[in-house]
Amino acid sequence: MNLAAALQQRFQTDALLGIRALPISPGHSHVSATAAVEPSVTIIERPPATAEESNRRLLALSVIDDQEVKPCTNCGLHSTRTKTVFGVGSPTARIMFIGEAPGADEDTSGIPFVGRAGQLLTDMIQKGMGLKREDVYICNILKCRPPGNRTPATDEIAACKGYLWRQIEIIQPEVIIALGAPAAQTLLNTREGIGRLRSRWHNFYVSGTELVGEPIPIMPTFHPAYLLRSPEEKGKAWADLKMVMSRLSIPIPSSTSSILI
Ligand code: URA
Repeated sequence: MNLAAALQQRFQTDALLGIRALPISPGHSHVSATAAVEPSVTIIERPPATAEESNRRLLALSVIDDQEVKPCTNCGLHSTRTKTVFGVGSPTARIMFIGEAPGADEDTSGIPFVGRAGQLLTDMIQKGMGLKREDVYICNILKCRPPGNRTPATDEIAACKGYLWRQIEIIQPEVIIALGAPAAQTLLNTREGIGRLRSRWHNFYVSGTELVGEPIPIMPTFHPAYLLRSPEEKGKAWADLKMVMSRLSIPIPSSTSSILI
């Protein structure tokens, strides 16, 4: 995205949220959007969002869902979908989980991650991390199911990712967890494999340029559907989640490891 388009998108979201200030970041050097975040980076504790702020974000999200995503015909997937799958969870979530695309159960229900992979993701969040599913935000790169659960096509991702970018802008998560290669590669604009991307921090600029806005740290990890097929890799995913919890000062529950190791 070029700078003008990035700013225009930012203004549209800010208008929905009633924000007037332009978030220009001072003094960024020209680093890659996927450059690793310095491990020594200081985490500034955010005050909890007010109920009013939470309601404003919920409204902004529902406007995008109801007016743009539900009637969307931007790619061919609209003709085979049952329901669009926008996202669920807290509009003030500290952590956003981003998967690939809805599967059959999600296409029927309109809710992301409710099938077998979704059950594992819920266990990772609740039994593993000690959080509630409703306290995080969960969504996908694509809002419609690719037939037969095939990998999203490049033109489908291009047609859909603007919705996700605006969800991220509204929710302003402290950390994004990218589930699997298509999610990580789309967010980081890279072709590198998930095995090489995972277990280290990357920066995401929702504006598409490090000149506008603050970076959001991304931790790529394995997709829960992959973990169902390859349970021996669960320990690696758990290590990634622990890096996120440590960064956000979330205590690790003592009874947690059995579901993931
Ligand atoms: N896999 C995904 O990537 N997303 C879902 O919502 C369900 C399965």
